[in-house]
Amino acid sequence: MDPSFTADKAGLLRAVELLASQDGSAPTLQAVPLGLPDSGIGEMAALELLAGPVLRGARNLASADAFAHMDPPTPWVTWAATLWNASVNQNLLHPDTAPVARAIEQRVVDWLSPYFGMDGGHMVPGSTVANLTALWAARDAAGVRTVVASSAAHLSIRKACKILDLKLIEIPTDRRGMIQADQVPADLSACCLVLTAGTTGTGAIDPLALAGRAAWTHIDAAWAGPLRLSGQHAQRLRGIEVADSVAVSAHKWLFQPKESALILFRDAKRAHAALSFGGAYLAAPNVGILGSHGAVAVPLLAMLLAWGRTGFAARIDRCMAHAADLASAIKSDARLQLLAEPETGLVNWRPIDGRTIDDVLARLPTGSASTTVIDNERWMRHVAANPNANLGGLLSVLRGADPSSA
Ligand SMILES: *Cc1c(COP(=O)(O)O)cnc(C)c1O
Repeated sequence: MDPSFTADKAGLLRAVELLASQDGSAPTLQAVPLGLPDSGIGEMAALELLAGPVLRGARNLASADAFAHMDPPTPWVTWAATLWNASVNQNLLHPDTAPVARAIEQRVVDWLSPYFGMDGGHMVPGSTVANLTALWAARDAAGVRTVVASSAAHLSIRKACKILDLKLIEIPTDRRGMIQADQVPADLSACCLVLTAGTTGTGAIDPLALAGRAAWTHIDAAWAGPLRLSGQHAQRLRGIEVADSVAVSAHKWLFQPKESALILFRDAKRAHAALSFGGAYLAAPNVGILGSHGAVAVPLLAMLLAWGRTGFAARIDRCMAHAADLASAIKSDARLQLLAEPETGLVNWRPIDGRTIDDVLARLPTGSASTTVIDNERWMRHVAANPNANLGGLLSVLRGADPSSA
């Protein structure tokens, strides 16, 4: 037996030790050769060499300051589950190569679908693929050739239209990024209407009451979908259950390691029928875009068991409270302008005392802010994806932010 393919307990324990400690090599790729080495340095040396760049060279998404992007920190149980996944390397393409992992994905889909009014679906590597899958189903199950979406819809909608050769009609938004409902064509009987629940730039939710009017309604809830698990916030997405399909990125607000997302359908049987291919060597039809497909449902199932729905809700509610706290601090400062009350954990603001966005950005803690462009102007952007966030550092810069000290 080649020992590289067995569980080397000492090696695995060392890997965990490196993960949990601060030792290891420098956080750069300096020690990694530029060319492919002819002979290897061995497993342990490879781990020691990479611990620095991979672990310490990473942006720390769990730091108290992390408040800039939709990438959350991940709970440690997902790390363990991912290690297990790598070791058994199941392929959900074929029942033979994943006797239980396929059932695990089904269980996760069955558990989550009802929160969105859907009756099934499957997992994909991200909402980019989820959106492409949804528009493919809309085209081939409902026969639509035209997609109607707002100008704030995610760029993956434009990509999907290009790939699927669908015509895209872009509807303008208001300043905070919500589709202008009165600009949506009255007759959508030959269209797929895409509504966004939590736009990427500003977190706006399109009026979901528009759902159900089109031949197919797809709701891109990549970011804000998990609010459905929160008793406090689920109502923000009311109307989502009328959609024909819903995309949710689990590697955003469900705290999953990448690449993990769900495409859910109100009538999964009908949708999957339009997305199915047989194959001589396949025992079950291949549904959707992916061929070989890993068991990304395993870490998600582990967390749904570990935390339950209320555990997810508590973390998401805490993130929402962080966003509300930051928004109220900005509102109470005459030197700062808040774009709008945060609806889904995104906060946008800008200085209105003569400083530029870059002046302010340079003084904010690393990883605490990003920027976006609204009506040709730059705005600060924060995303409450980090339940561990402590806004103290950010708020103290904002409070001390008088122009003379900048
Ligand atoms: C992030 C995002 C996407 C794309 O999802 P990925 O998981 O990054 O592929 C699509 N739509 C919206 C609204 C998003 O925020």
